[in-house]
Amino acid sequence: MQLSRKEILNWLLAEDLQQLEVLWSLADQTRKRHVGGEVHLRGLIEFSNVCSRSCLYCGLRAPRDELPRYRMSSEEILDCARLARRCGLGTVVLQSGEDDALDVAWLEEVVRSIRRELPLAVTLSVGERSEAELRRLREAGADRYLLRFETSNLALLERLRPRQPAPRPARRIEILGILRDLGYEVGSGVMIGLPGQTHEDLARDIEWFRALDLDMIGVGPFIAHPETPLGRRPATFLAPDGKQAPPEELTAYKVLALTRLACPLANIPATTALSTLARGDGRRRGLLRGANVIMPDITPARYRSAYDLYPGQHDASPDILQECEQLGSMIEGIGRTLGRGRGDSENAKRRRHQPLTA
Ligand code: SAH
Ligand code: SF4
Repeated sequence: MQLSRKEILNWLLAEDLQQLEVLWSLADQTRKRHVGGEVHLRGLIEFSNVCSRSCLYCGLRAPRDELPRYRMSSEEILDCARLARRCGLGTVVLQSGEDDALDVAWLEEVVRSIRRELPLAVTLSVGERSEAELRRLREAGADRYLLRFETSNLALLERLRPRQPAPRPARRIEILGILRDLGYEVGSGVMIGLPGQTHEDLARDIEWFRALDLDMIGVGPFIAHPETPLGRRPATFLAPDGKQAPPEELTAYKVLALTRLACPLANIPATTALSTLARGDGRRRGLLRGANVIMPDITPARYRSAYDLYPGQHDASPDILQECEQLGSMIEGIGRTLGRGRGDSENAKRRRHQPLTA
C-alpha cells in the first residue's frame, strides 16, 4: 500500500486507540497476504563488544572504558551455531561492535566453517566495512547483512554518530548499495524516538525503506543508556516546540505497521528493543502488527551483560532451548507457524526473478 507522506504522518500522530486498530489490522492483513503465516527465528550471536566508534546513543561506544570487552573465539561461535541448529533455527546473525581491528580473514573463516558444517544462512551485522572486505565475506558464504541507517535526518545522524577522520568510510546508505551489488540480502532500519528526531523524520525513514527496496527492516525504540551522552544529558538534544518523537512502545508499533504497509515483502522482526520496552509482550504484539521474524539471543550467558547496547536488553532466559520452545508456543498461540528452513526474504526472491528492464 502506497501511503503519502501526509498519510504516514497522520498515522504517526494518531492517538485514538480504536482508530489505530485499523492500522494494526491493515498491517496484519498485508503481512499475511505477502509473507504468510510463518514466523522465522534468527539466532543472534553477539560475538564481540569491541567497538571503535563513539555513537552517542550506544552503551558499547569506545570511550566507555569501564566496560569489560570480549571477543569470542571461532570455536565458541561455531558451538553457538550448532546450538542454533539443535533448536531448529535456520539462520544465525553474527553481530559485533564496529571494530577497526576486526580480523576479516578470521571472520571469513568463521563464516566458511558455519556454512560448511551446518545448513544455516549467515547474516552479518558488523558495522561499516570497506567494499573489499564486504566482497571477501560474501565470497566466504555470508548471505545477508544488517546495517541500520539509524535516521534519515542526516544532520541529526552527524551529531549522534560522529564521523570518522579521513580516510572517511563510505556512508551507510552508500554501503547498502554496495551490499546489494554484491548479492547480499540487505537489511537496514532505524531507532525510534532518538533525541532530536521528529515525526517528520520518522515518516521520511519509512519512505527511505521503500526507496531502498530493503529485504529486511529492523525498527526499534531508542532506549536511553545512563552511561552515554544521550542518557546523561537528554534534554540538550531534544527536538524543539513539542516536535520530539517519543521513544514509546506505541510509536514503535506505528512505525512497524507503517513499514509493513510500505514494504510488504520484507522480513521485519519484532525487535529486542521493542520487547525490552514492552516488558515481555512486545514480540507477540509486534507479530500482530506487521512483524514476521524474531531474533532470540543465543550468545553464551557469560558474555551477555557485557554486550550492553542499552539497559534491559538481556532480560530473556539464558536457557536457549527453553526460550525457543516458549517462542514456539507463543507463535502457535496467535495462530501462526514456526518457519522452517532459512526463511529467505520474499523481497530478494522477487528481485532475483524480476526481468531486467531497460
Ligand atoms: N556495531 C554495529 C552493530 C551493532 S549495534 C552497528 O552499529 O551497525 C546494532 C544496533 O543497535 C544499532 O544499529 C542501533 O540501531 C541499535 N542501538 C544502539 N544503541 C541503542 C539504544 N540505546 N537503544 C536502542 N537501540 C540501540
Ligand atoms: Fe559501536 Fe554499533 Fe554501538 Fe555505534 S551502534 S557504538 S558502531 S556498537
